[in-house]
Amino acid sequence: MPGPSRHYNKNMEKFLCGVDLGGTKLSVGLVHPDGRIHDKIVVYDHVNKNETLVVDQITRLIRQLLSKNKIKESDLRGIGIGFPGHVRYKDGFTLTTSNLKGFKNFPLRESVGKNFSMPVLIDNDANAQAFCEFKFGAGIGYDSLIFLTISTGIGAGIILDNKLYRGITGTAGEFGHTIVDPNFDLVCTCGNRGCLMACACGLSLPHLFRKKTEEGFRTTLSLPDDFRYTQVDGKLLKEGLDIDDPLSKAIVLECADYIGIGIYNIFQIFNPPVIVLGGGLLSWGEIYFNRIKSKFYELARDMIFDRIEITQSEAGSDAGLIGAAALLLE
Ligand SMILES: [Zn+2]
Repeated sequence: MPGPSRHYNKNMEKFLCGVDLGGTKLSVGLVHPDGRIHDKIVVYDHVNKNETLVVDQITRLIRQLLSKNKIKESDLRGIGIGFPGHVRYKDGFTLTTSNLKGFKNFPLRESVGKNFSMPVLIDNDANAQAFCEFKFGAGIGYDSLIFLTISTGIGAGIILDNKLYRGITGTAGEFGHTIVDPNFDLVCTCGNRGCLMACACGLSLPHLFRKKTEEGFRTTLSLPDDFRYTQVDGKLLKEGLDIDDPLSKAIVLECADYIGIGIYNIFQIFNPPVIVLGGGLLSWGEIYFNRIKSKFYELARDMIFDRIEITQSEAGSDAGLIGAAALLLE
């Protein structure tokens, strides 16, 4: 019977299994070594489960996917798991997460690994996305890349000379917690004042909306009677941009300036050939992206000696899943 496994054995290329363990969804997929998804299962009911139940669920979903596609465990090269938080890469422990219950010092790699007879890797989800971008997206053709994802929080991944750079623990690339404005009025989730994340991501938008209102900006958005600042998110400001709302525009430009400062710092540290930006807030469009770039070039001035590309993610919404699987190719 013709099928994926025969095609695949013929080519002597093994499938990769990717697991994107997110704060909202859990995706498990079979991925070709060229980054194409062969099949995937997505569930949303893992969020309130404890670590053991999540491990059971991941195991079950992988087995389900294998049997549905008539693929044997031995046809897989291994399992790569992307985790939404800090990871101790060397020993496969999760350290902290603000997106799931538990997972403090939890041996995730070993717990999943004992259910299978193949290699299992775990890494931070932004590292997985960065690696996907590097192998199959905007990073094709480069040997180094810095990836920044800007949504509710800010995550990042560093690729130097074709390898992810993880630091001694595995937590390198937390650009969201680099301090860009020590006098900023909002304290970050980490407890410090003026982290890039406190100034310029989804978490900071309610604060910025209030601040701009107090500075005298008026919004032309039609807000509900029971409007509260906590309802302000990237989507609302996108609606504001679409109707040329001065308040929304002021916030978006301020956020862009801080990201411009952030990537200027990244440029000075790494001198990378390409910086890739992804995440939900990029849906703010050209006004946002162009302002980020102009702030960067204003700061970098005559210190750029070779072309640096500042570009947007091309890997799409499955970047976390494909990237987790692709960790096996590193
Ligand atoms: Zn911080």
